[in-house]
Amino acid sequence: MPSIVPMQGVFVSAQSFSGVIKFTNCLLVKGNALVKEDLWVSSVSGKILNGQEILYEHRTAPEEIVDLGGRILSPGLIDTQLNGAYGFDFSVIPEEGMASYSKGVLRVNRSLVATGVTSYLPTLTSQPSEVYQKALPFLGPSGTARDASYGSESLGAHCEGPFLSPTKNGIHNASVLREPTNDISDLEDCYGITNLQAASPIKLITLAPELPGALPSIQALTNHNITVSIGHSEATYEEAKASIKAGARMITHLFNAMRPLHHRNPGIFGLLGTPSSSIHKPYFGIIADGIHLHPASIKIVWNAHPDGLILVTDAMRLAGMPDGTYDWTNGSRIVKQGALLTLEENGKIAGSSIQLVDCVTNFLNWTGASVPEALKAVTETPARMLGMQDVKGTLKEGGDADLVVLDLQDVEGGEKKFVVDEVWKFGVKVFDRAPRP
Ligand SMILES: [Zn+2]
Repeated sequence: MPSIVPMQGVFVSAQSFSGVIKFTNCLLVKGNALVKEDLWVSSVSGKILNGQEILYEHRTAPEEIVDLGGRILSPGLIDTQLNGAYGFDFSVIPEEGMASYSKGVLRVNRSLVATGVTSYLPTLTSQPSEVYQKALPFLGPSGTARDASYGSESLGAHCEGPFLSPTKNGIHNASVLREPTNDISDLEDCYGITNLQAASPIKLITLAPELPGALPSIQALTNHNITVSIGHSEATYEEAKASIKAGARMITHLFNAMRPLHHRNPGIFGLLGTPSSSIHKPYFGIIADGIHLHPASIKIVWNAHPDGLILVTDAMRLAGMPDGTYDWTNGSRIVKQGALLTLEENGKIAGSSIQLVDCVTNFLNWTGASVPEALKAVTETPARMLGMQDVKGTLKEGGDADLVVLDLQDVEGGEKKFVVDEVWKFGVKVFDRAPRP
């Protein structure tokens, strides 16, 4: 039996190691509000605790009290579209083989977590079948060990393609694009039959809903608990609507690589104007890097469907690398100038190199959203899209203690900027911008 000792007027047990941590003097992101409240977590279970229950029923003192000096404590950020970073590309199988690939994934995870992204979907662009079959087993959910030293956690892979429109391929290699004419058997042939079975490493698939066989494919994937997003598509409004009725839940990087809004045929964009009584309005990815979209376009879609907006980076392996011209696939080259990445041969936008926290800053400044509303677009909303809202993107009891301490700084011109001060993964601090000596 643990002995009972008094602490600050409350009797608590003096157990040897509780692993209980109390964050205090902080602003918690809860729904659309910032609340001045303490947060209790366990570094043992990696979960968020019920502070009242811990203190008054179990009489357990916190092992550690973390005073955040009035800063913001948010759920860790979630990026549902990350193609690579720090020189590593999830879609490239290294010549040295899969041991090298596995090391590359771990290197990305350990670097990425310091940017505040505590979980994400490693994303594959359109590839030949053998790339999926080799890469996917290394990209599945990585959090089962609940080991903070692994860094950012994969929630499963995002396969962006290859069932995409050849006329909306963007930077995807058109020669590997396919049609799911025989629906699930074509998908199995492409991704590998084991990769579509129970405990699939795939969490999300982007496909073009107007392709032959796309609607039964969406139904089959939904039955396999794989979420479908529509994109890289020539879909009309009617085709887009049919895909949502078939089970698709999201739109991949809205506006980019799809028909532009036309007033008589609004295409995929029109789904945001469809009454909720008619369809389940889809979530939609937005690349708020100042290059892919005009700020006014972002404000319009946020006003149209605020609960659906998910900020994504769509960042690729040159994220974090110096400016210059880099070899891409099939003899193409990419020019990097700051956050701008273009294909050398035709000037097409070739992904982004922005960090997710900077997308949140842009979104805050461009739309007039409140701090919790802006953070929701990288926490609660992506978690809800993935059906993980009870464990990720939340500060509720029972959720994973993946946390980001944010400093909201004033910058020139009256704008604000989020700075990641600390990152906690499964209740363990994994990054501190200015550790105390
Ligand atoms: Zn894309």
